[in-house]
Formats: sequence, structure tokens, C-alpha cells
Amino acid sequence: MKVPFLDLAPAYAELQAELEPAILDSLRSGWYIGGKDVEAFEADYSHFVGAQHCIGVANGLDALRLALVALGIRPGDEVIVPSNTFIATWLAVSQCEAVPVPVEPLESTCNLDPTRIESAITPRTRAIIPVHLYGQPADLDPILEIARRHSLFVLEDAAQSQGARYKGQPIGGHGDLVAWSFYPGKNLGAFGDAGAVTTNNAELAERIRALRNYGSTTKYVHRMRGFNSRLDPVQAVSLGVKLRRLPEWNARRTAIAERYQTELAETGLLLPQVPSWADPVWHLYVIRSARRDLLQSRLLDAGIGTQIHYPIPPHLQDAYRDLGWKEGQFPIAERMATTVLSLPMGPQMDEGSVDAVIAAVRAVTRE
Ligand SMILES: *Cc1c(COP(=O)(O)O)cnc(C)c1O
Repeated sequence: MKVPFLDLAPAYAELQAELEPAILDSLRSGWYIGGKDVEAFEADYSHFVGAQHCIGVANGLDALRLALVALGIRPGDEVIVPSNTFIATWLAVSQCEAVPVPVEPLESTCNLDPTRIESAITPRTRAIIPVHLYGQPADLDPILEIARRHSLFVLEDAAQSQGARYKGQPIGGHGDLVAWSFYPGKNLGAFGDAGAVTTNNAELAERIRALRNYGSTTKYVHRMRGFNSRLDPVQAVSLGVKLRRLPEWNARRTAIAERYQTELAETGLLLPQVPSWADPVWHLYVIRSARRDLLQSRLLDAGIGTQIHYPIPPHLQDAYRDLGWKEGQFPIAERMATTVLSLPMGPQMDEGSVDAVIAAVRAVTRE
């Protein structure tokens, strides 16, 4: 039996009867940028995450970048980022000509280690970007407390965590701003690129609304030097249909993760660790193994697709060579890059596929 790492076609098939009339309506409306469909999704999504404002934008990287611009991040400012995140978190900082300052994650959760943040703060530090990696919330309370004490902004990168909860509260309104990606493979994914920012701060919301539209909220009046980064109605109606299904789809992911957690417990692999206050949404199910490459190739032989999130930490990418970071400076991120492996995970995975993954992982780890 073959189990692909990810196949998005079954998700489309499951919702096809609802999606296609909604998309056709939108196409026939004669309105293709902004408008009532975008506003309706923004209202639904802000309600879903418990924030007062939602601003749809073109993608997740832009959500982060517009958020940083709205916070007033300037060239030469420093922004604290996890050493083990997807590179977009860093790129958004660089696009403001600010400097990403890496802080290591906790080995246990792969999320920013709050005890390491203060030693990275300098007089130029302006903001902290915790990432809710793999769909698991970062430990926000101590991070917010440190930010308050040092007058720093908190921008959350929630690209992987639609529906996740921290101490019972949905991710979406803890920090000053929360950036979302609706890239097709995320838990809530569009049919192309899409993103959003949520916040409880009306002034920041208004600024991002202007920034996404050439710095303008009144036609041809430009308050600031903005961007073109808008969510289109076809994506908005699609996301609206999928949002209604998201809690159920996240629950299906959780059921699969629970099977992996119990049925792979004896394999000797390091399985994800979930703090008692976290309700993760399992965007990815990531195990760690010192024999990762062998495990991955043996699973491939057995027909099981896997991925590595992520094989090279940002500080060792050529894109950041000019910052002068060397191998060995962020050993936790570097060790994760060589040991992590993401198993197949998704709401449309059937029991037989989960059985096959578990059987194959057990067989390979018994060798
Ligand atoms: C996907 C992702 C992004 C970027 O989102 P895009 O919509 O692809 O631009 C940013 N941060 C993290 C952690 C992501 O996983």
C-alpha cells in the first residue's frame, strides 16, 4: 500500500459540492478584488480565532511583512525569531531591512524557549516573533511578559496553527498582531496563495488595511507607502466554505496523532511532546530519530512518503551568509534539522493508511 506524504485532491473532493457553486457565484458577480466576499471571510475568521479584526492579504509572508511595517520596524532594528523556523519568518524581518536575531527552541516542543529570550535582547530589539510550529502553540504567557517588561511588540507567526489553543484560548489575539498563511497545504488552505493578519488593536488593523492596498483607504489618497497584497474573493469564498469544516478536520488530525502517539510509543523514536496547556492542531506530525535518513529511505521503500521540516536552519542558508552565523552556534536547531521527520498527516487519511504508516515505522525501527 502506498501512502503519499500529502494529497490535497481528496480534500477538494470532500467539499466539491459546496465549493463549486460558491466559487461560480463569486466568478459571476463581476467583483474580483476585495468586496463583500472578502469582508465576510474576514468577519468569519476573526470570530473563529476570537480577535476583533482580520485583514486578508496575499500570502503568509506578506502577513508577517505588513505586520512588521505596521509596527514601525525600521532598518537596523532587531527582531527575535526562532532558530528553527521556516525561512519566511526571517525573510519578513529582512524585507524591512531589520535584523533577525535567532533564539533556540525548547528541545521538548520545538517552540521558542522563553528562558533564552532575554539574553538576546539589545537596545535595538523591537519585537519578538514566536512561531506556533507544526500546529503546536508556543508558550505565550512568559513571552508576552518579557515583551511587556522590555517594551517589545509580539507578532505571532500562526501559519501552521489555524484552530490551535493556548490555555484554552484560540491562537489569534494574544500578541499585538498574528500572521496567518492559507497556503494550500496548511490546515486551512486556499486554492492558491492567501494570508491574513488578526489583532485586537483597531489602529494596527487600520494601518494594515491601508498597507495592503497601496497605503490607501480612500481611493487615490495615500497615507503611507503601501504594497499591493490583497486577498481575492474567489479565495475568500473558498476559505469560508473550508473554515466551516476546519474544527472537524482538525479533530481528524488529532485522532491520527493520538494513534501515532500510542502505537509508536515503543519504537524508540522521539515523539512530539505536548504540554498540558496546549491544544495542537497537528499541521505536521514530526518525530525525531538519530537514524533519520535511513528511516526515511526505508519508509520510502515501503511506499510511505515523508518530508523534512526543515533540512537546513535559516542561519546556515546561503541567503543569510552575510550575517556570519557559523555551524555550531544554534546546536538545537541544527540537531533538529538532522533528526526531524514528518510522517503522513491529514484529515482525509483513512484508517488503512494510518495502519500502513504505523506498521512500516514499527518494522523499520525493529531492524
Ligand atoms: C507557510 C509558512 C509561512 C509563509 O506562508 P506563505 O503563505 O507561504 O507565504 C510563514 N511561516 C511559517 C511558519 C509557515 O509555515
